[in-house]
Amino acid sequence: MSKYFADLHIHIGAAGDGKPVKITASNSLTFENIVKESKTRKGLDLIGIIDCASPRVQNDIEEMIESGEIKEIEGGGLKYKEDIVIIPGAEIESREENGGMVHYLAYFPFVDNLKEFSTIMDQYITNINLSSQVTGLTGSEILQITEAAGGIMVPAHVFTPHKSFYGNAFESYKEVFTEQEWSSIPAIELGLSADTDLADRLSELSNKTFLSNSDAHSIPKIAREYNVIEMESLNFTQFKKALFRQDNQNIKENYGLDPRLGKYHRSFCPDCNQKFIDHKTRAVCPNCGKKLIKGVKDRILEIADQEIKHPSHRGEYIHQVPLLDIPGIGKKTLAKLLNNFNNEMEVIHHTKFSELKEILNDKLAQRVEKARKGNAKIESGGGGNYGKIV
Ligand SMILES: [Zn+2]
Ligand SMILES: [Zn+2]
Repeated sequence: MSKYFADLHIHIGAAGDGKPVKITASNSLTFENIVKESKTRKGLDLIGIIDCASPRVQNDIEEMIESGEIKEIEGGGLKYKEDIVIIPGAEIESREENGGMVHYLAYFPFVDNLKEFSTIMDQYITNINLSSQVTGLTGSEILQITEAAGGIMVPAHVFTPHKSFYGNAFESYKEVFTEQEWSSIPAIELGLSADTDLADRLSELSNKTFLSNSDAHSIPKIAREYNVIEMESLNFTQFKKALFRQDNQNIKENYGLDPRLGKYHRSFCPDCNQKFIDHKTRAVCPNCGKKLIKGVKDRILEIADQEIKHPSHRGEYIHQVPLLDIPGIGKKTLAKLLNNFNNEMEVIHHTKFSELKEILNDKLAQRVEKARKGNAKIESGGGGNYGKIV
């Protein structure tokens, strides 16, 4: 059994020929650039590339297979040069019967499965080439389609106020899924504004594996959150088993932002431009009486049915600040660190403090040390504005 660094939610901005795929993502995020960046600079072992339902992306994948740069492996997944395995996926937006909109991630083993999924989704998505995601299907229908095409489904960033399972649509899975459907969903994605302590206040999640992913819309954001997964080997079959915690495979650690750094941690009034960071939860602004953009923390406390209770399988959640978010670390300093220590995972997990001090001045080395141990001082985010290191 080995431990692997995994970020399973990375978007594609453009196809290899420059044509757009996901409009809101950077156009330097091509399939090929993501794979190379994730391997060389980030130091990831397993990545989930979203937006692969676009036939443009499927063309890029097939070209890379033909040229021998990547290959489909036994058990599913795509391997790039012996070092990194890609799980291709999609993010789909539902329209639930109660009007709520939810993002779901779907992961697939082979290009053929992806194509099957795209062919079906083409009937519901306005332009399958552009990863617009909007389908008009319910979560239950998306689950059925995903499974029929050989994939697995995971609700994305489940607590964010816009387009998410608990943040935007439901208080419980019982409102949308049957017991059997719910049990075929192995995991949920926490999203940047939540962590294990917050999510384990919902008893219905105790049997779900938690994923912490970057949801990167640009290259530097890859691996701002990631997971350490203990698996027998890197392929889709073992990944699926790890999410279901079969054969002793499991997520061992979630590395994520302190939830206070997320954009939607606390409630925010867009009219008064005010964030509420006290211990109260409220639905409307006490100043103007208008509806607040509910913070993730506030939403969780609203629907929680228990105090924090971690099931025994739950991995440790480690609050970590991405290197580029540490004040004083810009592109140049990061490049210097990567030149000396290879990749970000090395800098964060294996480089000794004494080695850091050889490259960085004392003050900066101390800051990196604090950030990787989760001791940085933080001001909460809300209403679409990220929190800050102070
Ligand atoms: Zn999303
Ligand atoms: Zn996303």
